[in-house]
Parts: sequence; C-alpha cells; structure tokens
Amino acid sequence: MSVRKINFGAGPAKIPEEVLLKVQDETLNYENLGVSVLEISHRSKEFAVLLNETKQLLRELMKVPDNFEILFMQGGGSGQFAAIPLNLKGEHSYADYIVTGAWSQKAAAEASKFIEVKKVFTPAKPYVTVPDQDSWSHDENAAYLYYCANETVHGIEFTPRAPPTNVPLVADISSNFLARPFDFTNHGVVFGGTQKNLGAAGLTVVFVRKDLIGKEQAVTPAVFSYKEMIANNSLYNTPPCGSIYITNLVLKWIKNKGGVDAIYEMNLKKAKLIYDIIDNSDGFFHCGVDKRFRSIMNICFRIGGPQGDESLEEKFLKGSLERNMISLKGHRSVGGIRASLYNAVNLEETQKLAEWMNEFETQK
Ligand code: PMP
Repeated sequence: MSVRKINFGAGPAKIPEEVLLKVQDETLNYENLGVSVLEISHRSKEFAVLLNETKQLLRELMKVPDNFEILFMQGGGSGQFAAIPLNLKGEHSYADYIVTGAWSQKAAAEASKFIEVKKVFTPAKPYVTVPDQDSWSHDENAAYLYYCANETVHGIEFTPRAPPTNVPLVADISSNFLARPFDFTNHGVVFGGTQKNLGAAGLTVVFVRKDLIGKEQAVTPAVFSYKEMIANNSLYNTPPCGSIYITNLVLKWIKNKGGVDAIYEMNLKKAKLIYDIIDNSDGFFHCGVDKRFRSIMNICFRIGGPQGDESLEEKFLKGSLERNMISLKGHRSVGGIRASLYNAVNLEETQKLAEWMNEFETQK
C-alpha cells in the first residue's frame, strides 16, 4: 500500500482500501457472471439484488424509520437544491432556510427559482456559528425548514442539534453521511451525495417521508420527482450503477467496522486529535468556528493567526506533500487549511497529520 497517499480531500475523497481492492478483484468478473457490474443491465436480477441490498444496508445502519422511502437519484446535492422545492412546495408559498455556510447559501439561491425563500436569520459572514434559535424567524406556514447538517467549506456541523420545528425538516447530510448517528425525528427529506463518506460520485441518496410524496409541481422533471422515482424503485431511468455498487461495498465496510456507533467513536477521536493541537497552539493554529458547532469531518484552520499567514500556510502544504499527505488546502473561497477526516481516513493517517502539525509548530 506504499503507493497510496494520505488523502484529506473534501470530496471526491478517500475510499477504504478494502473496498478498492474488492472492486479491483471483481472488475472482470462480478459474481461469476463473466462481466463486471458496470456491464450488466440495471434491470437484471443481479442488479436488483445489489440495489435492494444497498437500500437495506442503509436502512439498517442509519436506523431509517419505516415511514421513509430511500431513493437513489442523480444530479448530486445540487440537484436536490432544486428537487426539494419542486417536490415539497405543494400549496405553500414559501420555505424557511437556515443559512450557515456556502452550501446552505447555494441551496437557498437555487430554491428561490421555485419557491419564495425566507432566511430565518440574516447570515453573518464569515460563517462561524449557528445563531441561537430564539433569534430566528420561522413559522408553521413554511413548506419546510432547510438546514445543512455539515458545511463542508466552513467546517460548521449542525448535527446532532437538528432544529426543533413543526414543519418538515430538510437536511443536507452530504458531508457527514454516516459519520455519526442521525435522528430522523421531525425530518421530511434527508439527502446526501455519496462522494465523501459513501464511495464514488454520481449517486445521491434521498430519504423521503412517505406522507410528503405526491405533492410535486407539474413542471417537475421526472428524474427529480420523488413520486416517479419511488414508483420505479429508483429505476425510472438508468441509475449510476457503478456508484451504487461502490456504496454497497462501503456500507458493508462500515458494518464490518461495527456500524455507525463505532465509526462515530473513531471520528470523535480523530477530530479531537487535530482540534487539541489547534487549541493548544497559543493561536499559531486558528480555527474560528464556534466550538459548539465544530465539524468532526472538515476541520478548517488558519496558520499564523486568525487571518492566516499565507506564506506559512504554503510552507505547511508543501511539507504535507513531502510527507505523502494530499489535498489539505482550504476551499478557494476561504483559504487556509482544511483537513477532511471522512470515515475512510483512519486514526493512523490522522496521527501523521497531527505529527506534522506539531513539528511545524516547533519550527516557527
Ligand atoms: N452539500 C454539501 C454539504 C456539499 O459538501 C456539497 C459538495 N461538496 C454539495 C451539497 C453539492 O454536492 P454535488 O457536488 O454532489 O452537487
């Protein structure tokens, strides 16, 4: 495995070696069919087994309540930004949005093409926190209340404190999918792309509460209609077969690791390792995110002070590459460093980053 780099990328991101080896092993011959899974009909019985097993694994690992359907869609998280208002608007005139970072902001902007969007508070930049709920303006006439469970660019994690509401909650879990237990209470739609914690890009998993199905706008494209997708067991059209296959393997990998609770425990350990170094560095490493909402998946920080010293950050990134660690550069809109510690990144790899941070700090 020495050719493998330590990958802290934000997505597409690291896929567990065991999964990649299994894919390699089955590429020429899947289940003794003499062809790979990429080469068989999505309507074959072999693919039906794979698809239904993948849904079942998700249901089991995430403890998805029986009143939720699980859909396999395309178009990414960004597709859902449009699909959500198209499916949930019904007779409502507006939806409420909690904007805590770049991704909920994008979701709100896209939704405003299809429904009036009300932000429950005026987002304050830089994004570093979730304002107290008593300052929100949110009411029960909204079609739904939208939030991003983990802001990938800004490192702000909402979960597990889903906001209380009487309207259906909509959660974007793209970047903390199966990173920790998820409570479906009050939720109407929960969705995430698979390219961070669940495998490859191309598949978007959508959990929809059954009573919300069938309210889509007449103009909703069939591929974005929850009703159409459910009626066809996610096979309205050709699904992203390869991504479903890889997600299936990743879910089995999670199960073998002991399930979500075990994964969560490990994720807490990994995140603590890095945040402790930041907090004990006398400001040399700086994470501006409110401690109550620090992401355990995407750790964003600056080096050399709150605004960051770009020459120091460049030096840090260069040293990371020399130590086999890639993709630690922060998102272009915020700069600095971002370490994405998704499920597949193990403790040993996180320790390598911690060692380098400690070494770098002593060199200052
Ligand atoms: N939501 C979040 C939280 C994300 O991190 C991303 C992608 N980085 C998206 C949505 C958009 O996903 P996609 O690129 O699959 O459309």
